[in-house]
Amino acid sequence: MLIVQKYGGTSVGSVERIRAVAEKAAACKDQGNQVIVVVSAMSGVTNNLTAMAYELQKQPSPREMDMLLSTGEQTTIALLSMALQAIGCPARSYTGGQVRILTDNAHTKARIREIDSDKIRHDLDQGKVVVVAGFQGVDEEGNITTLGRGGSDTTAVALAGALKADECQIYTDVDGVYTTDPRVVENARRLDKITFEEMLEMASLGAKVLQIRSVEFAGKYNVPLRVLSSFEDGPGTLIVSEEDLMMEMPLISGIAFTRDEAKLSVVGIPDVPGMAFKVFGPISDANIEVDVIVQNIGADLTNDITFTVQKKDAEAATRILEKTATEMGARGVKVDDKVAKVSLVGVGMRSHAGIASRMFEALSKEAINIQLITTSEIKISVVIEEKYLETAVRALHNAFGLETAPA
Ligand code: ADP
Ligand code: ASP
Ligand code: MG
Repeated sequence: MLIVQKYGGTSVGSVERIRAVAEKAAACKDQGNQVIVVVSAMSGVTNNLTAMAYELQKQPSPREMDMLLSTGEQTTIALLSMALQAIGCPARSYTGGQVRILTDNAHTKARIREIDSDKIRHDLDQGKVVVVAGFQGVDEEGNITTLGRGGSDTTAVALAGALKADECQIYTDVDGVYTTDPRVVENARRLDKITFEEMLEMASLGAKVLQIRSVEFAGKYNVPLRVLSSFEDGPGTLIVSEEDLMMEMPLISGIAFTRDEAKLSVVGIPDVPGMAFKVFGPISDANIEVDVIVQNIGADLTNDITFTVQKKDAEAATRILEKTATEMGARGVKVDDKVAKVSLVGVGMRSHAGIASRMFEALSKEAINIQLITTSEIKISVVIEEKYLETAVRALHNAFGLETAPA
């Protein structure tokens, strides 16, 4: 079998850990498999490099940022190859550019366009373990690019797709995908399986265990994907298509949350056509992504429009809104970055009523005020005050009985 294994930052966080990873990869090869290993930077390295960049410049150039951050993964591939060779396992390391993971030129958030698998195949056929740097690629002009935080997951899945691997194994510091972040809810439960669609929602709503794009890619190209611990043995969590889950479908699979959003409101907007466009046009022109949107008509027949953006964009969005508000004769702009978004995810919602009211009941029992609500086919999200985040997640986890597996 051809297996792609990916090890995250904590899993390769020290020389000792790199040795342990080498043992795991070599054992997989000794079982008769061909093995490609994708690694992240050692834990903390990407953050440290980023901090140094921001000490030098307020807005470092994205190209230089990629040049800098890619060094984290380059360190790990070399060390891991050495660790493999030291235990008698032939290995060879490659940067993203060397195996030609070709991306577009959107520095710091590049997308993979194409992977040249010839070199990797050649090495695999010679019995080598191929070690590839995660998170990085190269554009048409030869500039180093990176794929966004958590991007090593996507490198692994893309390689697995390109080489038609039998399984892509994401090794991390938890032993699978849980009903919610096990660091927040102690009795969170590991899921044996979760559908691509639910995993995609969980990832985009804040569960960082897998990068969104890696799940998107795995779903699209049907890459068998499993999340496991690099610290202990176990079956992990298999990400499957909905047909494979069939009868086992739970109502709610998990709870995701994020502190990364800020809430902005334009209040007292004249109630005439075209105002929403006036509000969001300039925001979208500035390339700011908008999440939850709510519009309400007040007693005085003016509108309030409230929405969320990523915290990093809040300042820029506020400046734009203040200008818009003046132009359109609105009463003003309000900003709140002490908010959090909590989301319930489950494909079972499609066929069951009453989930939202159960969610609101659980939050009301904790006296948590809901500021915004948004729903889609398989998720319900609420925006609440940030300080209640953990209480809310625990209350919802209990209310939906997520700690016990459905019978
Ligand atoms: P790596 O460095 O291996 O890529 P990450 O830190 O990116 O690891 O992702 C693993 C972390 O994701 C876990 O330590 C856990 O705290 C967090 N996490 C958030 N939501 C979940 C979830 N639903 N299931 C498992 N882990 C989760
Ligand atoms: N090193 C990068 C990060 O910390 C990529 C990754 O770990 O997946 O985001
Ligand atoms: Mg990660």
